[in-house]
Parts: sequence; C-alpha cells; structure tokens
Amino acid sequence: MILLSELSKWTVGIDAGSTAIKVAFYNGQEFHCWQKPSGWSPREVVAEMLEQAKVELFEKSSKTIDYEIDKIYATGYGRVSLSFADKALTEIACHGKGASYLAPSASLIIDIGGQDAKGIAINNKGRVVDFVMNDKCAAGTGRFLQVTAHALGLEVADLAGIAEAVEDPQPINAMCTVFAESEVIGLLNQGVSREAIVAGLHLSVARRVAAMVARLLPREKGSIIFTGGVSRNRSIAKALEKELGHFVLVPPKAPYAGAIGAALLAWEGFN
Ligand code: ADP
Repeated sequence: MILLSELSKWTVGIDAGSTAIKVAFYNGQEFHCWQKPSGWSPREVVAEMLEQAKVELFEKSSKTIDYEIDKIYATGYGRVSLSFADKALTEIACHGKGASYLAPSASLIIDIGGQDAKGIAINNKGRVVDFVMNDKCAAGTGRFLQVTAHALGLEVADLAGIAEAVEDPQPINAMCTVFAESEVIGLLNQGVSREAIVAGLHLSVARRVAAMVARLLPREKGSIIFTGGVSRNRSIAKALEKELGHFVLVPPKAPYAGAIGAALLAWEGFN
C-alpha cells in the first residue's frame, strides 16, 4: 500500500514519449510514478492513467484523501496533443530538471529514449548549459534495440542479462533499424551466437552515444546520470561506463526523469 504524507496539494508531470507515457505525481515531498505504452492515442492513454493514479493514490488507501491537483505540466513528443495540460515544456528543460533532482551532483545527463538520444550538460545549480541530440538516426536509440531484440526472438527487457559474460562482442555496423535487422538475421544465419550479437548491439549503442556526448564530458569523474527507458538495461550502462571512462549513475526512477522534471517545474510555478 502507498503511504501518503498529510499534504494534499499535488502537481503532475507527464512525459508523453514516442514509446511510453510516463506520469509523475508530486506533493513537494515524494513522487509516485507510472508508465504505459503510448499506443495510438497518447491523449486517451494519459487521461486513463491520470484517473487510475488518482484512484490508487487517493481512494485505495485506508481512508479517502482530500486532494487538489494544482498544475499539470507536459513534455515529450506527444505533449502538444494534451490540451488539458496547463503548460507544455521542452524535453531538455524537463529532463535537465528531473535528472538533476535525481542526481544533484551530476553535470552530464545521458538520456536514451525510444526515438532519440540526448546529452545534457548542467551546471552546479542544476541549470542546462548545453545539449546534443540525435533524433535523426535510429542507431543509438531504444527503437533500434527493440527491433534488433525482436529479430533475435527477444524482448528489450531480456537483453541486459544475456550478454554479460561475452568476451568477444559481434559489432553491428548498420546505422538504420531496417538494415540492422537484416544484419542481425545474416549474422544468426552465419552461426554467430545470440549472446555475441547482443553484446555487440550494446557496444554499438554505447559507442554512438559516447561519441555524441564527448564534447560535454565532465572534467571530474563520477558525475554522469543515465536516464530514459534504455537506462533499465544495465549492460548499456556498463558499456557506457567503459566507453566514457566515467562512473554512470542510474537512480531507480531514472526512466521517469522527464515526468519528474515536469512535476517539479509545475510545483515551482515555472513559466
Ligand atoms: P520515449 O520517451 O521516447 O517514449 P523511453 O524513455 O520510455 O522513450 O524509452 C523507451 C525505450 O526504452 C524502448 O525503446 C526500449 O528500448 C527501452 N526499454 C523499455 N523497457 C525496457 C526494459 N524493461 N529493459 C530495457 N530497456 C527497456
């Protein structure tokens, strides 16, 4: 059962991503987060998620709690379709805010989502000072991992554990999802093991993202946070660490960084 504090005022952050909708409720003290596939109508999915979240938070506890939702801020690919949101904010602003809340010492955020990968540099006040983004090429994104996982008869959630012991990863050279899928099928037909292909896949994604964020790398060690849905894959986090030569932190709520940032900015009344 979810334990709630006495506070009844809440803000809501919604990250309407290309792959998954993330929702965060915040009362100035604690976050409660949910996620669902985006589906064909993000607007309907969000409306349903908000109703379910309210039931879970305020009606299923031992007593019904009086609450007020002060503001709803939205970010992500589908944010413009959410007319009930009080404000639509950029992903850079929300991911920057959310990630620096989850890891206050971080000066670089690496976010890998379904259709893009971002590097966001933040200063010691948590303000965004620079960013890089790949939203043109599928290589180095979650979608690339999803498609290649399916070509291997796997789900993305299965990828992490499978290749940890591989010493000789099979590099994947294709930059486009469709060609990568054919390359994977070709490698399987040549008898290359699934484990070696998965290890190579992780390495390719990590190398592409590491090259993209190279100019934003912090001078001191230990200040990189990895967020977005792909941060659930611990093998990619490890591969990034190896490529970057820095410790990469993955807090438990890392996939929700954008929604958390939106809820925090709503709480602060950001305009
Ligand atoms: P978006 O914001 O674009 O919708 P997300 O940040 O939610 O994207 O990330 C979606 C990606 O996360 C998927 O494409 C997939 O590769 C990855 N992913 C989702 N769930 C898992 C999981 N359980 N393990 C590993 N990777 C995952």
